[in-house]
Amino acid sequence: MIDDYTDGNALAGPFMDIFAVDLSMAQGTCAHCGTHGMVAQMRVYDHAPGLVVRCPICEEVTMRLVRTPDRAWLDMRGVVALEIPMAARTDHA
Ligand SMILES: [Zn+2]
Repeated sequence: MIDDYTDGNALAGPFMDIFAVDLSMAQGTCAHCGTHGMVAQMRVYDHAPGLVVRCPICEEVTMRLVRTPDRAWLDMRGVVALEIPMAARTDHA
């Protein structure tokens, strides 16, 4: 049913779970060449305003992170998906 949805507030809890973990241990797939590997193995360039993350195989940009004192911008258009190790859930929600 097309009207069977809730608004984005429903993402608050699930996103807090995910973004509170060490994402360097996550595995990602490069959107450009399809290489699958750990975020910790990507190349991070910190000479730009913010951090630019590149694939170690094709060298295309996978992620960008810019921080100011009260904001963060995370651009992940170069990663198809992140596989994030999580503690096992017990509530089956
Ligand atoms: Zn790549």
